[in-house]
Amino acid sequence: MEPESPASEGPVDVPPPSEKALRYHRSGNVVWAVEHLLGLALPAAILLTGLSARLRTIAGGVAHGRFYPTLVVYLALLSALLFVVQLPLSFYVGYRREHAYGLSSQRLGKWAADELKGLLIGVLLGAAVLWVPYLLLGASPARWWLWTGALALPFFALVLLIGPVFIAPLFNKFGPMRDQALEAEVLAVAAQAGVEGARVFEVEKSVDTKKVNAYVTGIGRTKRIVLWDTLLARLTPRQTRFVVGHELGHYVLGHVRLNILISSALTIAGLFAVHLTADFALGRFGDRFGFDRLADLASMPLLMLLLSLFSTAITPAMLALSRHHERAADRFGLDLTGDNHAAATAFVALQEQNLAVPRPGRLYKFFRASHPPIGERVDFINAYRPQKR
Ligand SMILES: [Zn+2]
Repeated sequence: MEPESPASEGPVDVPPPSEKALRYHRSGNVVWAVEHLLGLALPAAILLTGLSARLRTIAGGVAHGRFYPTLVVYLALLSALLFVVQLPLSFYVGYRREHAYGLSSQRLGKWAADELKGLLIGVLLGAAVLWVPYLLLGASPARWWLWTGALALPFFALVLLIGPVFIAPLFNKFGPMRDQALEAEVLAVAAQAGVEGARVFEVEKSVDTKKVNAYVTGIGRTKRIVLWDTLLARLTPRQTRFVVGHELGHYVLGHVRLNILISSALTIAGLFAVHLTADFALGRFGDRFGFDRLADLASMPLLMLLLSLFSTAITPAMLALSRHHERAADRFGLDLTGDNHAAATAFVALQEQNLAVPRPGRLYKFFRASHPPIGERVDFINAYRPQKR
């Protein structure tokens, strides 16, 4: 039985990480570094070997030199190449490793199907938008980055709108919540936060992972509170109410809106950085690349490479902002539910379920942590006095 009066419950201790969690953390850092290096080395290799130019020539032949069909064929070839080369690593990271640590119950067929769907969606999305910068590179060589970046805002908004409604259900079953009493509680918390008319979904994530998660997204009729079935199986109703309160915090405090605005501004900045540096790369390595203008479709890996460098450079700042938002959402969830004990124990459960390390090193936090370490979150919750909302 859960105690009735949260106020009478004392502070919650943060348990030390298990040996397994520490191994998962350390090997995760190695995986992260390898993935990052590969993300730079692969496009560089595809450029320097002249492979990109060859793929563009093949695509041009298939599409009889017409611009848009050439772009789509080239994009499909490039995506398939990257997919195949990275397959061993994706298999290890996304399947073998998660199983080895007991974090996954996913079947191999489901993993493979999801990978192929991801590849296909990536090509379709790329085909839908990549013609824009390439046409603009031809039409306005000096300002293409600005016009392209300006279109990023409506594009991100559209992806945010269609993603949860049309793309996420391609990977997992979204159904109504099975526990209707808990659904009523979730809706009551939402109403208390001023979020009316949201639908509650229970998503069958247990086929993929044992990790737990929840989120609130959408606008108008697509407004939704989404809870993974793994979370509902692991957390008590009181803990679930806090998690929902936290996610509502992101929604009500406008974090998503702000992230879209910042991402759009950063897209403009990133494309400007590409604009400034591409000529140097083309002048220095153009002979080996097999092309000498950014407007050449074969420049796609160069765009990828330069944008990856830019995004790596700004990652620590973006992560710091994200952690700031997480702290605000924690505070919001506590003010909403007034249930510090449920919040702190929810994080301890999360730590155990997701094999998290509660107090990672400073370097990890700086380069990798989108959320404050669980130890810090529990410390904060133990010390915080909720304000009435
Ligand atoms: Zn959050």
